[in-house]
Amino acid sequence: MKYYSLNDKSNTASFSEAVIRGLAPDRGLYFPKNIQRLSDDFLNHLDQKSPVEIGVEVMRQFVGDTIPETHLEQIVADTLCFDFPLVSLSKKLATLELFHGPTMAFKDVGGRFMARSIGYFNEQNPKKVTVLVATSGDTGGAVASGFLGIEGTEVIILYPKGKVSKIQELQLTTNGNNIKAVEVDGVFDDCQEMVKTAFLDKDLHAVYNLTSANSINVARWLPQSFYFFFAYQQLLQKGFDGNLVFSVPSGNFGNICAGIVANQLGLPVHHFVASTNINDTVPRYLQTQDYHPLPSKQTISNAMDVGNPSNFIRIQSLFDNDFEALKHQFSSYAFNDDQTRTALKELHGTYNYVADPHGAVGYLGLQEYLSQNPDAYGVFLETAHPIKFRDSVEEALNITLDIPAQIQHILDKTPEKTSLKGYEAFKEYLLQRA
Ligand SMILES: *Cc1c(COP(=O)(O)O)cnc(C)c1O
Repeated sequence: MKYYSLNDKSNTASFSEAVIRGLAPDRGLYFPKNIQRLSDDFLNHLDQKSPVEIGVEVMRQFVGDTIPETHLEQIVADTLCFDFPLVSLSKKLATLELFHGPTMAFKDVGGRFMARSIGYFNEQNPKKVTVLVATSGDTGGAVASGFLGIEGTEVIILYPKGKVSKIQELQLTTNGNNIKAVEVDGVFDDCQEMVKTAFLDKDLHAVYNLTSANSINVARWLPQSFYFFFAYQQLLQKGFDGNLVFSVPSGNFGNICAGIVANQLGLPVHHFVASTNINDTVPRYLQTQDYHPLPSKQTISNAMDVGNPSNFIRIQSLFDNDFEALKHQFSSYAFNDDQTRTALKELHGTYNYVADPHGAVGYLGLQEYLSQNPDAYGVFLETAHPIKFRDSVEEALNITLDIPAQIQHILDKTPEKTSLKGYEAFKEYLLQRA
């Protein structure tokens, strides 16, 4: 399997090159050259496959010959070390819980798969790979946990001082081992800028083998298509036979884009709903056909506060840039924080289900679609455990959440971090420890 850059189709790369580079040299996103439908034999017997068998079958064509089959199996098995339960809420409605991983965010799967792929690609290289990642919260934790203990790799996380939640900060700063946390006196954009500058710095390249763990990396993006197979598999096991609709709480649109990949691999999905908060660039585009990104606005579903979703261009490519074809299979609706709080209450009151604000937005999008298409069966993805957005959830529902084991075990740990300000200080920090 080859990948090409969405800026220039003649700019191609293998899976390993695409993973190590992250972005193509022309700054374009990598995109698979062709997506081959999986065999009918596999698709018709999904209910009898294990999650690892599904993961290997899905990823095989995407990794091509860059990872041998037995090693791919190992990577997928290590990645899928937790469950993805489908929780039925009514006859027409279920939620797929993606938050049972080590950092309780769905980004764990992409983070783990990418870390293990890079670990494999670097096995023959005596020079350690250093992953630089800027985070506004969840991504850094999932990437750090994914790379924790992976031979030949280290991760340096930059996060803005005082701008991540207490739990998120503990997830960033208590890993130890090959994970280092740098607290930056500034905002997220400063962290991101420092990472970008470091990549262009020749002094650093002389001593470091640098890579990024950005969410646009194909090794983080493509494994997310597993979720849609896992949902369908669990439905089949209950005798499902209907029009399946997924609603995906969307920010950078990587997750829903992976769902469309699953569909093109042969998974029978009737329709996709991209549910957003007030950062509504895509819902507006579907109404006006005018793609007009705006600066991001802060909401209680902050992992989706994205004004210019980087993966939307991949979605357009999956539909051959055909607006009508896109609209036929893809809808997008936006909701504000008040609606999100009301949805949290409704899910709790009607279904006795405690969602997080992102899942609540997914629920709202699904309700909107189902109100116009009452024959469909809907699954919304629950992308984070409610404890990660504790204040909003406890306040909306007037309850106290239990603290799950994954979080409990970091609460007593002592944070370890380096505090600094500005690029020069960061560079000095890197050069000193090299
Ligand atoms: C990252 C994230 C999202 C958005 O996913 P995209 O792939 O960027 O659309 C939604 N919910 C949570 C909790 C997240 O961390």
